[in-house]
Amino acid sequence: MSLIADLCNILLPRKCVVCQQTLEPSEQYICTSCSIQMPRYPLQSIEDNEPLRKVWNFAPVQYGATLMYYRHQSDFHNILIKIKYKGGAQLGIKIGEWAATEITHLQLAEKIDVIVPVPADRKRIKTRGYNQAEMIARGMGRIMHRPVMNLLIKKDTGTSQTKLSQKARKENTIGKYEANIPQDWRGKRILLVDDVLTTGATIGNCAQAILATDSQATISIFTIALDA
Ligand SMILES: [Zn+2]
Repeated sequence: MSLIADLCNILLPRKCVVCQQTLEPSEQYICTSCSIQMPRYPLQSIEDNEPLRKVWNFAPVQYGATLMYYRHQSDFHNILIKIKYKGGAQLGIKIGEWAATEITHLQLAEKIDVIVPVPADRKRIKTRGYNQAEMIARGMGRIMHRPVMNLLIKKDTGTSQTKLSQKARKENTIGKYEANIPQDWRGKRILLVDDVLTTGATIGNCAQAILATDSQATISIFTIALDA
C-alpha cells in the first residue's frame, strides 16, 4: 500500500461496511471476519441463475447476478436496513462500491452501457432524502466506470409490498413504473439495480416499463441480496 493510502487510513480510518470495525490495510470495504460469515450466493453463471429465473416470470432479461442470500438474523441484513434510513446514503454508496468490486470477475461492466436504479416512490424519497437503490447504483458506477441514470419513475405509492402475498405483489407492481428514456439513451444495454430481490416482480416490472418505451434496449439485473 502506498504512503498516501497509509496516511489516509490513519486520518480517516476505513470501516467495514458490515460491522464498522476499522479495516486492516489489506482489507477493502469488508473485514475478513464478515467476509467469512457472508451468506454468499453460489453464482455459477450470469446467464442462468435463481434471480434471473424469478425475473423471467415478468420480463426478458439477459444477464443477472446477486451477491448473497438475504438472512434475517445476519449483520448483512442489517446493512440493507441501515441504508434505508435517513443518513444511510453514504453507506449505500459504499455497499455499491463493495458489490461492484466483488463482481469484477464477472465482467458485467463490459456487458452494460448504463446503470439504472429501481425507483422508490416520491413519498419515501421525501422522508428518507434519497433512493437507496440509487446510492448502490452510484457506488457501482464509480467502480464499473459506467453512468447512472434515473430512467424510471414509480407512479404511485400503493400498498406496502411486504404485506402482500407473492401473487398480490406480482399484480401490485404491474403498471407502477414508467420509463422516460431520452433519444440518445435508447437501444442501450441497461443494468437494473436494486437492494433485494424477492419475487422478481419489482425489477421485472421495471424491465417491462423500459422495454415498452424502448424495445431495442437490453436489460441485465443486479441486486445485493436474494430473498429466496
Ligand atoms: Zn466486518
